[in-house]
Amino acid sequence: MQFKKQTVRKYTAPDYYGLDDLLSDEYKMIRDASRAWLDEHIMPIIEDCAQQCKSPLHLIPEMGKQGFFGPYIPTEYGGGGLDQIAYGLIMQELERCDSGIRSMCSVQTSLVMYPIYKYGSEAQKKKFLPKLASGEWIGCFGLTEANFGSNPAGMLTHFKDCGDHYLLNGSKMWISNSPFAQVAVVWAKNERGKIHGILVEKGMEGFSTPEIHNKWSLRASITGELVFDNVKVPKENLLPGIAGLKGPLSCLDSARYGISWGAIGAAMTCYDTALQYSLERIQFDKPIASFQLTQKKLAEMITEITKAQLLTYRLGQLKNQDKASTAQISMAKRNNVNMAIQIAREARQILGGMGITGDYPIMRHQMNLESVITYEGTHDIHLLITGHDVTGINAFR
Ligand SMILES: Cc1cc2nc3c(=O)[nH]c(=O)nc-3n(C[C@H](O)[C@H](O)[C@H](O)COP(=O)(O)OP(=O)(O)OC[C@H]3O[C@@H](n4cnc5c(N)ncnc54)[C@H](O)[C@@H]3O)c2cc1C
Repeated sequence: MQFKKQTVRKYTAPDYYGLDDLLSDEYKMIRDASRAWLDEHIMPIIEDCAQQCKSPLHLIPEMGKQGFFGPYIPTEYGGGGLDQIAYGLIMQELERCDSGIRSMCSVQTSLVMYPIYKYGSEAQKKKFLPKLASGEWIGCFGLTEANFGSNPAGMLTHFKDCGDHYLLNGSKMWISNSPFAQVAVVWAKNERGKIHGILVEKGMEGFSTPEIHNKWSLRASITGELVFDNVKVPKENLLPGIAGLKGPLSCLDSARYGISWGAIGAAMTCYDTALQYSLERIQFDKPIASFQLTQKKLAEMITEITKAQLLTYRLGQLKNQDKASTAQISMAKRNNVNMAIQIAREARQILGGMGITGDYPIMRHQMNLESVITYEGTHDIHLLITGHDVTGINAFR
């Protein structure tokens, strides 16, 4: 695959409250190594990837070597053996580059490797995890259906026990990575209506993964459907360690945690681009950074980024202690993605007409974040999760 290379402006990471002082040398080394690799290999081509609606799939093996797949999965299964803050910092750097690239890596880690590691048999772990960690195989996660997005419990995809195999029927919609994935973690109901995770492999008869086209968002990430037409799935492909909706929801906790770090990365890029541009762009004989209204925008942006950084760092500590609740993770996902999309919009304004071009990364981030604010629980659904948590009253229905 050929992508046009663009010169990338020098990036200065905003760190207004000295968060770096809280990071260990190992964390900083992991973050800086990820940043350097992304700056060299993905940043120069990402705009062209998005313009062409193509993902830089040729870099997947190298991304595996960089440790972008399964950073917190134990090393015995090929993962990085790192903790949650290290995972978060990697997600931040990936999304500083592009939300679609981060999506590919966080689906692989939190929605595919995590359920196999947490709920899979030893044989499943040995078969799938090392290949997923290296990038030899890519996975996807099938929960959403065309008529069941925010309400996945209503899913229609189902399987029946046929003695020596399961027979799977139904379909899934909006599935990141599906058209090029070797394995799909599919959530489906059994004859008693209980939700289970099943590993469906590429090439199984009756299984297809058509691509979804016409996206204006996450254009460097491939999205598709999963269609199951009497797919015979071997019994050993059922995840034995979980039953019920809490299976997929626990995976979403892990993925939403990664998104909360990732969104900061997107916001950091937009802020840094706007700050540099405002210092250089002259109107009325002065840099536009000298106007009070521009300074108000920049001041509010750095304030919101700083608050999100501190929120997420603390969440990382709680996650490392296995104390982060679903509601705490939900709050960070909602707050940080909303923060990032507001910053992208304000940053775009600071760049005036240039802000809508691909010469700068802001418009791409803004459009990407329209997906990020919707997937893994929409902004409003996350408000309801916090509302439920603080009042004890479920307002979902
Ligand atoms: C690019 C992209 C990639 C994705 N990748 C994946 C993936 O890999 N795997 C996967 O399983 N899914 C994936 N999704 C699906 C995503 O998680 C869903 O789009 C999301 O959960 C919302 O579902 P929906 O689109 O059906 O919207 P709906 O559920 O129809 O919601 C529409 C609107 O109604 C609101 N709403 C719904 N219920 C309530 C309520 N009770 N109270 C108040 N408001 C409500 C919502 O907040 C929203 O504003 C992806 C989506 C996109 C766009």
